[in-house]
Amino acid sequence: MTDFAKTRAAFYLPEGVTYLDGNSLGPMPKAAKARVADMMADEWSEMLITGWNKAGWFDQPRKVGDRIARLIGAGDGQVVMGDTLSIKVFQAVSAAHALRPDRRVILSDSGNFPSDLYVAQGLADAVDAELRVVAPEDVADAIDKDVAVLMITEVDYRTGRRHDMKALTAKAHAAGALTVWDLAHSAGAVDVDLTGANADFAVGCTYKYLNGGPGAPAFIWTHPRHAEAAQPILQGWMGHTAPFAFDLDYRPAGGIDRMRVGTPPVIAMTALEAALDVWDGVDMTDLRARSVQLSEAFIAGVEANCPDVTLHSPRDPQHRGSQVGFRHPHAYAVMQALIAQGVIGDFRAPDVLRFGFAPLYNNLDDVDHAVRVLAGILHDGSWDHPDFHKKSAVT
Ligand SMILES: *Cc1c(COP(=O)(O)O)cnc(C)c1O
Repeated sequence: MTDFAKTRAAFYLPEGVTYLDGNSLGPMPKAAKARVADMMADEWSEMLITGWNKAGWFDQPRKVGDRIARLIGAGDGQVVMGDTLSIKVFQAVSAAHALRPDRRVILSDSGNFPSDLYVAQGLADAVDAELRVVAPEDVADAIDKDVAVLMITEVDYRTGRRHDMKALTAKAHAAGALTVWDLAHSAGAVDVDLTGANADFAVGCTYKYLNGGPGAPAFIWTHPRHAEAAQPILQGWMGHTAPFAFDLDYRPAGGIDRMRVGTPPVIAMTALEAALDVWDGVDMTDLRARSVQLSEAFIAGVEANCPDVTLHSPRDPQHRGSQVGFRHPHAYAVMQALIAQGVIGDFRAPDVLRFGFAPLYNNLDDVDHAVRVLAGILHDGSWDHPDFHKKSAVT
């Protein structure tokens, strides 16, 4: 059994804060501070350029990738780290599209995160493809013989709706299409099984449920059956078969290494390594069970105590990730009032209060406290204060 009291104790959680926003930015693992300080003191300062070999900086994107692989049902040597998620989306979708040269359609849904859609629009314009966006519940029926790539974010960032990865992948394959799964709100939140689902490509970030810190690098996975054929449009020297030969012509590295682009963010990846230590004793089945327990308790508590909000997430936990949305006509002000009382969730336009339940550090006390504070704010109307209506740049 996973010891969730121990995993919670591994994080720095500020006094007086109930943190339900790990789906945007996970909290700092206590060990990260010293780990990064040691890297600066022992590696960057003392080793300088030799750190690429001596401290293993060059191989770090693959080593860290192997640790992520265990959490998403992938195998060793199949995941590599680097860049940001938006860039990894571009690489995965462009590689998948190129493997289906006789087809033009990239299919996605309107619940996807806008950055994924923007990236796909840019790609579609550049390669004369078409981005087709349908409602989340219409995805399965929209898969036809024109579709080259099905590009889906498994868990909807607003509603927490979870797509059936296995069923949609099978449907896509039956129609001759390939799949790209964005795991931004899945990795570290639910029990992902890329191999079991027979997916083709997957990407994700590490600053949400994996707790790698702001600016932590993204990851990309290619199924081994495509690894020697896939070629993203964005190709850089670190993905060359011999980066230090400085050839004028690009020749892709074998396997997942070709998905590397440029110099990896070594300092950020060092913080991520400390975050991944916390995952070492975690069983993903236990993680999923705890996530369901927390989100079910929150929905029951809110529905019993807050008549002014309506559930904006699937009621069946099988169709939900690890976050829960509730709608309120003044969701922005309500969330500001919650934050002022130390309960941090977030607002998502136009009217959603979103709460993420991170099984590694959230517990039932957090759920009860958040329900009590939300009920209080809605009951006494204290959210309706001018301060809580002011918008800031990042919401
Ligand atoms: C968080 C998120 C992103 C963010 O992409 P970055 O390039 O890391 O800023 C992209 N897609 C999805 C689905 C997300 O949830």
